Amino acid sequence: MADQHSPFRVNVRDLVNRPGEMREQRLDVPASDRFGEGLVSIHEGSELEIDLRLESVHEGILATADVDATAEGECGRCLTDIALPVRVEFQELFAYHSGEAFEYEVQDDHVDLEPLIRDAVVLALPFQPVCRPDCPGLDPETGLRLADHPELVTHEQPSDSRWAALAGYQASEDEGADQGSDADQQRD
Ligand SMILES: [Zn+2]
Repeated sequence: MADQHSPFRVNVRDLVNRPGEMREQRLDVPASDRFGEGLVSIHEGSELEIDLRLESVHEGILATADVDATAEGECGRCLTDIALPVRVEFQELFAYHSGEAFEYEVQDDHVDLEPLIRDAVVLALPFQPVCRPDCPGLDPETGLRLADHPELVTHEQPSDSRWAALAGYQASEDEGADQGSDADQQRD
């Protein structure tokens, strides 16, 4: 299953069995396919910027990475196209010998970062992405974006029966207050 030519596979021959050695490198790698299944995802071919540190330790190669990517998709409220920056970090040991303690392994003097990066990025994607924190969404009757049609926001509220009931309740309270002040005035 491992793709021998995957750009996520990094050669670590210079570090193998040299505890204390360390190397840093920058990788710009296109996503091998779509990362994520939700409203926003990293599209296939979208570039991932990976700042990678590889350290040789006794048990294997310790990989530390900062990954920057751009998730694309739709706002969960108004369905407009959006692009969101995604930044993840991870640290993982690639062991020389597989075992229960270590999930990842150095294979043929390479470490394959793809599954780690995919998992970290997918976990970081928002379930309810929005184009902006206060996105008002869509008008339920016309389907228009309320951000583009602010006049629809004010028209919507009186048609909602809960608002109408609340408005009526407040009106009767005001009436009561007026009567009370009238009574006070009469007493004076
Ligand atoms: Zn929106």
